[in-house]
Amino acid sequence: MAKNPGDPYPLVQVENYERYVGAEVVERILEKARPLQDLRVVHVNSTYYGGGVAELLSPLTLLMNSVGMATEWRAIQGPPDFFNITKKMHNALQGADIHLTSLKATIYEEVVYENAVRNRLDHDRVVIHDPQPLPIVRYSRKRGPWIWRCHVDLSNPEPSLWAYLKPFVEQYDATVLSIPEYARELSTPQVFFMPAIDPFSIKNREMSEAEIEERLQHHHIPTDLPLVVQVSRFDRWKDPEGVVAAWRIARKEMPCTLVLLGNMAADDPEGQKVYEEVMRHKDERLIVLSREDTALVNALQRRAAVVVQKSLREGFGLTVAEAMWKGTPVIGGNVGGIRHQIEDGHNGFLVDSVDQCAQRIVQLLRTPKLRNQLGHHAHETVRRRFLLTRYLEQYLDLFNAFEA
Ligand code: UDP
Repeated sequence: MAKNPGDPYPLVQVENYERYVGAEVVERILEKARPLQDLRVVHVNSTYYGGGVAELLSPLTLLMNSVGMATEWRAIQGPPDFFNITKKMHNALQGADIHLTSLKATIYEEVVYENAVRNRLDHDRVVIHDPQPLPIVRYSRKRGPWIWRCHVDLSNPEPSLWAYLKPFVEQYDATVLSIPEYARELSTPQVFFMPAIDPFSIKNREMSEAEIEERLQHHHIPTDLPLVVQVSRFDRWKDPEGVVAAWRIARKEMPCTLVLLGNMAADDPEGQKVYEEVMRHKDERLIVLSREDTALVNALQRRAAVVVQKSLREGFGLTVAEAMWKGTPVIGGNVGGIRHQIEDGHNGFLVDSVDQCAQRIVQLLRTPKLRNQLGHHAHETVRRRFLLTRYLEQYLDLFNAFEA
């Protein structure tokens, strides 16, 4: 997109990625974007802040504009009841039990209907993210293809909930899931591609040692011992209790400080409770922080000797990709999307239990050479496979497929 002389800030352009992905990829993307010039695109999710989807949409919508599509981002609104119900749905899509009464279903559908009225979704391409706004397709007039982009681990959804949601899903022209293991039986096409990260964001860009030190000191994080870090929303699927248990075992062999940094998402009502539970473990070597500080995430992921993402379910772990980009070895739960991000023993470790996690922490803390080696491969993996240009290109392919 041509820059106006009056543009005050240099927004990320696809050309900026050339240094990481090469000129050929950038050229290819611009070529694929050509037939889509001025196409009106809208992404709809349920929060502008907190969690991976908001994190993705923020740079993705800018990047789509930078290649010439008029791309908007809307977040649906709703009362706490609504988000309590959708959080239960989110949990049940990942396998938990749910008792979806007809009253709850009515609240869910009504709130989504109100959002359909408020947001006239008459765009050429509409991308609806996750289950919260899913039924909106039923209450909108389609002007072009509609895509449901589901970010959760759909490998084993609670059957009664899936039976309820499936007819909504089948009103979409395509469903995008992160990995083929999440495929469901649907009458409509399914496409698979994983999220990616923006290397230019405050969270991911280079930081000097002095800047890192300043952020850690500001939050009183001791750096005399190696840091083991997990950055995650306070959510049971992220298994903070398991991380604490693993650290307790590991520290007996290798003294270290555990930092659990988390935030709350506007669409996740369980965060506060989980945070309070985790806070009970806090001591001078176990730091639990709930802060909105993006540069702190960056500093921690860079300074950590080991990053842990011991999720029990994970559609795709943005935090995993973020830490890998920084050349930090990651120990990830052997689940969902993380299995496609970490190749065990090559660019990180996958673990199935607290004990395994503890063993890997000890091994990595003992062996700086191994940390460097895994970290180096981790960075390369993200450069090749998990930068936003790849994600953008897959959306362009999808949008173009409808054009044909
Ligand atoms: N995040 C953050 N601060 C926190 C915790 C998480 O900025 O205290 C960010 C994290 O860096 C990542 C996103 O929130 O970009 C979480 O995405 P992920 O895919 O890891 O998990 P989700 O929250 O979507 O389940």
